[in-house]
Amino acid sequence: MAESIETLDPGDWTEYARIAHEAVDRVIARTAALRHRAVWQPMPEAGRAALHQPLPRSPTPLSLVVDEAWDTILAYPMGNTHPRFWMWYMGASNLTGALADFLAAADGSNLGGGNHAAVEVERQVIVWLKDMMGFPASASGTLTSGGSVANLIGLAVARNHMAGGDIRQDGVAAVSRPMRIYASDQVHGCHQKAVELLGLGNGALCRVPSGADCRIDLAALEKAIGADRAEGFQPICIIGNAGTVNTGAIDDLAGLAELCRTEGLWFHIDGCIGALARLCQDRPAALDAIELADSLALDPHKGLHAPFDVGCVLVRDARLHLQSFALHSEYLDPAARGIAAGGWLFDYGLQTSRGFRALKVWMTLKEHGADRFGRILSRNIAQSKRLAARVDAEPRLKRLAPVELDIVCFRYEHEGIEPTALAELNSEVMMQLQEQGIAAFSDTTVHDEYGLRAAICNHRTTDADLDMAIDALIAKADALARVGAAARA
Ligand SMILES: *Cc1c(COP(=O)(O)O)cnc(C)c1O
Repeated sequence: MAESIETLDPGDWTEYARIAHEAVDRVIARTAALRHRAVWQPMPEAGRAALHQPLPRSPTPLSLVVDEAWDTILAYPMGNTHPRFWMWYMGASNLTGALADFLAAADGSNLGGGNHAAVEVERQVIVWLKDMMGFPASASGTLTSGGSVANLIGLAVARNHMAGGDIRQDGVAAVSRPMRIYASDQVHGCHQKAVELLGLGNGALCRVPSGADCRIDLAALEKAIGADRAEGFQPICIIGNAGTVNTGAIDDLAGLAELCRTEGLWFHIDGCIGALARLCQDRPAALDAIELADSLALDPHKGLHAPFDVGCVLVRDARLHLQSFALHSEYLDPAARGIAAGGWLFDYGLQTSRGFRALKVWMTLKEHGADRFGRILSRNIAQSKRLAARVDAEPRLKRLAPVELDIVCFRYEHEGIEPTALAELNSEVMMQLQEQGIAAFSDTTVHDEYGLRAAICNHRTTDADLDMAIDALIAKADALARVGAAARA
């Protein structure tokens, strides 16, 4: 018999299995009935207060802990798994991904590297993602916490390679001409954090105006690069948007690739929204040029609906990727045999210890096949175009931007209501739809016009869901407009 010591293992394995199975059953039942629940409801004050407990110093039976989590926490999710959630741009998660997260956590492996199966799974997932993106087999890549870190890694490789000195040893202070990176004014906020962290400063991220179609103005970009060179700056990189966060606009990626070639710049693409649409049969042709990027960020927790979190960065030249991130520490020498023989995945990014994110991507791709994800993304794009057509047809709705992918920006308008009141009215309708659990839209401003935004990256959304939500939106807005008119009268 084993020596009796205190561990974290169950005292009673049979009872543990019963509680765990019951938790799984609850999750499956709730997910099956998801459509009939409110999109969102606020966590009650009593529940919030109940969470504020002193540090638990002694044990509580697992069944009570699970019940408490189920009743007070898991009953009040963000709502992004619901078919009528279209806020920001997120994935809707999926049960196989959740199961995979459980299996991966129970496996417990550290994906920093080593000679074990989990490492091979991440390598295989990277091979599949390279394949989807048209990147060569010789390219490298790594799974990250999300698109923000994926973009940071891509830009770090760009900076280190383009700076012209040994940035890792000497830092940016040793570079005589300040470096500059270019993107459109629609670029995601994570790039600002990236240039700040990379020691370049926010001023180094040159935001080039976008046109009415929200795509970067190539002529203005070329001019900005020339002017910066004349002033003594060192242009190093252009960031292309394969789907802007605001409206889903796809920059002229082929044009940007060409400009990078003639100017000798690194071409990074932020594909967090649009890159996975390469899986669609009827994908926008503009996405073909993703293959020309030197580095690319994409987001499986958006278009592949993997549970949060998992992003990915690919780098065309694996040698440059390693030159930026590989370390050789004596306590982590690779071995010829044994557990340390597998090579280090942390040589491709920031984290030393890494979770087994790869399994949720691997299992969902195996279960569903990549083509199903393409069909769902195609449907979401078609739903967005259908919504845009309805907005165009409704006399009191106005569209704010072209629809290329799965994002629609629009607003309610009413004769005789001045802009500030109109913005308040749109915001109020958005809040009511959220608070009544009907539908979740977000709001934004496109070229100085305030409005609402539907990001339809959701494998559960039906056409009827969108019809119902827009009907409710118009009815509420009409009612508010009438109240406003009565108040003014
Ligand atoms: C979501 C998004 C990001 C940030 O990715 P996270 O996964 O949220 O870290 C960056 N760029 C674009 C275009 C995005 O849509």
